Amino acid sequence: MNIEGYDLIVVGAGFYGATVAERMAKKGKKVLVIDRREHVAGNAYSYRDEKTGIDIHKYGSHIFHTEDDEVWEYITQFTDFNDYVHTVPTRHDGKLYPMPINLDTINLLYGTNMDAEEAEKFVAEEAKKAGITNPKNFEEKGISLVGEKLYTTFIKNYSEKQWSTSATNLSADILSRIPVRYSHDDRYFMTAKHQGIPVNGYGAIVDKMLDNENITLRLSTAFSTIIDEIPENIPVVYCGQVDELLDYELGVLPYRSLKFEAEWVDENSDDASAKDSKLGHAVINEADADVAYTRTHFYKYYQIHEPEVLKQPKSYVVREYPADFVRGGEAYYPINNEQNEELYAKYVELLHERYPNIMLGGRLGAYRYWDMDKAIKNALDFVKTLEV
Ligand SMILES: Cc1cc2nc3c(=O)[nH]c(=O)nc-3n(C[C@H](O)[C@H](O)[C@H](O)COP(=O)(O)OP(=O)(O)OC[C@H]3O[C@@H](n4cnc5c(N)ncnc54)[C@H](O)[C@@H]3O)c2cc1C
Repeated sequence: MNIEGYDLIVVGAGFYGATVAERMAKKGKKVLVIDRREHVAGNAYSYRDEKTGIDIHKYGSHIFHTEDDEVWEYITQFTDFNDYVHTVPTRHDGKLYPMPINLDTINLLYGTNMDAEEAEKFVAEEAKKAGITNPKNFEEKGISLVGEKLYTTFIKNYSEKQWSTSATNLSADILSRIPVRYSHDDRYFMTAKHQGIPVNGYGAIVDKMLDNENITLRLSTAFSTIIDEIPENIPVVYCGQVDELLDYELGVLPYRSLKFEAEWVDENSDDASAKDSKLGHAVINEADADVAYTRTHFYKYYQIHEPEVLKQPKSYVVREYPADFVRGGEAYYPINNEQNEELYAKYVELLHERYPNIMLGGRLGAYRYWDMDKAIKNALDFVKTLEV
């Protein structure tokens, strides 16, 4: 590939890379964007199934939500959003409970009819009953926050599945708080000022962001295949894993991963998945230990702006399983403990020594979990400081 003539190279066409490329192209800079996947939008990518009209979120459910007006103004230049407001019931012993825990969750679990004040007092007493004043691990912390029954039913098994280890092996620090609402509010993103699902999906947003004569997009192109051709004076924004870039010289930066198992179901059938889909939730969490997956996604229920998609009987059902991360696999959630942060910092130092023209960007480059709005916000801030 001819690399000459570009002012900037962006590796990764996810929201971070696309925002950097779009802003710089708008300033008249020539930008080359590459991604090793065959599609844009990174982990947020979704595409429309032609037969059913269902927008399939390739890497799990993505709901756009933000408290930041700058991000909202920016992203709404490229798409409209529907009015979807995210709620997620959790299943325990075949019954659905609102999550995060609210007044209805508590009354359903205990078979009570408490008002807000009574429930608050009750949960505080339950928490106190365990007598844990100095929690030494995740389990003790959870019990000390909401009491044994709420913790064991809704937090313990789900978290053990996510981390693939006993809650007694996990650090108490992971669990700073367990949100409990003494109201009927079941919105998942309670503080989001703006939220919704893009009306034409996530892939279409990034296509539009990159549709600029100053941007050249090359998909199915890994950075390793062009790195040696890049002149040292061309800056590179790299939105991948820094350990991979440096050939794992200092070891592997740890992540948790996921596996997705998908099936098409006909909601008119007697199949268990079909019955679940007909409940009309976009996501159901699975709280019990004997169900290996943590979430089931029913993507069509995000498309509240398209009644014809909701009404047709087909549904695309995806089960999400937590998985160990292996080198070279899909890195989803960084494990941000002290030891891993130190390793990351060493990699950053090594990168600057070896490749002074490469800047790290995006959630992988930063070794952080970011929601989409955070990735966009960080990219907007970064571009303000970028001198090219
Ligand atoms: C299961 C799951 C659910 C999520 N749900 C939500 C949600 O509901 N709402 C929300 O706001 N956020 C959600 N997120 C977070 C969201 O996915 C991220 O915020 C977003 O993807 C970050 O964008 P990014 O550009 O930083 O990274 P990414 O989207 O990961 O993009 C990085 C891109 O770089 C490419 N790349 C990496 N290395 C190389 C290389 N060496 N050569 C070429 N290309 C490379 C990758 O192929 C990828 O396309 C979720 C994340 C996960 C894992």
